[in-house]
Amino acid sequence: MSHKISESLNQVRSFLPNSVSLVAVSKYHTIEEIREAYDAGQRIFGESRVQELLIKYEALPKDIEWHFIGHLQTNKVKFIAPFISMIHSVDSERLLSEINKQANIAGRNISCLLQLHVAQEETKFGFSPDECVEFVKQGHWKEMSNVLLKGLMCMASNVDNEQQIANEFDMALRCFEQIKSVSFAENEEFKECSWGMSGDFEIAVKHGSTMVRVGSRIFGAPHH
Ligand SMILES: *Cc1c(COP(=O)(O)O)cnc(C)c1O
Repeated sequence: MSHKISESLNQVRSFLPNSVSLVAVSKYHTIEEIREAYDAGQRIFGESRVQELLIKYEALPKDIEWHFIGHLQTNKVKFIAPFISMIHSVDSERLLSEINKQANIAGRNISCLLQLHVAQEETKFGFSPDECVEFVKQGHWKEMSNVLLKGLMCMASNVDNEQQIANEFDMALRCFEQIKSVSFAENEEFKECSWGMSGDFEIAVKHGSTMVRVGSRIFGAPHH
């Protein structure tokens, strides 16, 4: 294997302040590759497809914290509810309500982030900042006792313009701060800003990120 996963992992880690956690995005990468990152001390891994995640969950050590970062269909929540640590991609009340239901059946709580849409691309999922503020204000989530709202997630536009990327992260950060002050001022758990990927995590940590999701910078280009 020419690509040294442990070396790239350590490069990414050495850049991150202690306050920022690293989700190693292992989608499309093999169990052996994940094992290499695990052996180098990584414990948080992110996946975006349910079937692929289930296979990896079965095969790998049980002290891994699995995060779901991709679009999640409500009919698949039940498969991951027994073990998933955090779902970053909650983009509707219907999905949150299903996560709550399945978490309750599994007898556990699931940490969730609300996914914001701040990028220029139209295909990405998520709430607009206004919709997100409104959703939290409505307060239906308060009746969902098996989900823990921990913060927001977003993806910036896939562009070279660093100023634009920074502006999008700032937009997400303002939304986070507004929601925090209105609905979570007393709640220390609502603190996560999940933004920054291989191409933009350096910008993200300067613009409020507390959690970066890095795949190809650690594992190399994905094999589909
Ligand atoms: C694939 C993916 C990442 C990681 O992307 P890289 O560019 O490989 O770092 C992060 N977040 C989400 C939601 C993804 O789907």
